[in-house]
Amino acid sequence: MQRRVLATSLVDLHKDHNERAAWAHIKPVMQEMMQNSVQKIDTLHVLSDGPVTQYRNRANCFLLSSVPYTWGLKQITWNYSERAHGKGAPDGVGGAVKRMADNHVHGGKDLQNPKDLYEFLINREVENIRFKWIDESDINVFNEMLPPSVPKVPGLLKTHQILYFCPGEIYYRDLSCFCQYPEMCECFKPTKMRMDDSSNANSDHLQPDSIQETYAESPSTDVEKNEEYTVGKFVIVSYDNKLFVGQITKLLLDNIEINCMVQHGKRNVFKWPNKPDCIFYHREQIASVISEPEPNQRAAQLTKYDWLLFNEI
Ligand SMILES: [Zn+2]
Repeated sequence: MQRRVLATSLVDLHKDHNERAAWAHIKPVMQEMMQNSVQKIDTLHVLSDGPVTQYRNRANCFLLSSVPYTWGLKQITWNYSERAHGKGAPDGVGGAVKRMADNHVHGGKDLQNPKDLYEFLINREVENIRFKWIDESDINVFNEMLPPSVPKVPGLLKTHQILYFCPGEIYYRDLSCFCQYPEMCECFKPTKMRMDDSSNANSDHLQPDSIQETYAESPSTDVEKNEEYTVGKFVIVSYDNKLFVGQITKLLLDNIEINCMVQHGKRNVFKWPNKPDCIFYHREQIASVISEPEPNQRAAQLTKYDWLLFNEI
């Protein structure tokens, strides 16, 4: 008789079943979809159950308000269903995978750990199912993104929808609504909250009323403060430890939307992408304002000084 022993306790296996692990799992799937899709994908809707320990919590609100836009997503909703209402396509895939693994083991083969299962599955080349291996280090990326303190999100326990339109900011409400999506509707009294405001982080007495604002209030009055950054200016922006040249297309508080050019290899040749590649960056990601690149045949090149800057930063 063969005996199989699970060497890791169930508690340990589940320790990473949290919002950071969730984003680590969403990331490669989103990236593959965004790369392979003919149409530009800029919206993500997550439908999940809503355990507080896993992802109905302020850490998830923070990640939701900051992570996906760095991938190029512009709108996100996370919708929590009640327990046992969450069955969908993923459960079907899970069932199919489990059956394959069961059959394999019943045939006398061994699958002793997750890596065994993964190797077994990728070698099966199952049609329409692609397998991704998510490592501890992939989850650590998201651990490191979380600041030491994240503002409390009052009333999150009752929340069934979190919406994102602008970096650092979320709306949340008791029930989901999409009646005007991708515009924000006023149904079910959405509450607006900034997740990157650390002054709220240690407050235990945050009143929901004090942060409730209507969507109609435009933050445009703050835009004038960004004196050195104005729409149309060219900048060097840092993203993922790489530098990009782009033009400012929108200003929203500390977030600046930039249409980035595509660099030709490592040369001083920059072109506009076929479709505008407008992504919000935090103003801290902007390395420098530069002059407008000079036209050169069908591309553009940075001035000598800016090119030097681009290579020195
Ligand atoms: Zn609505």
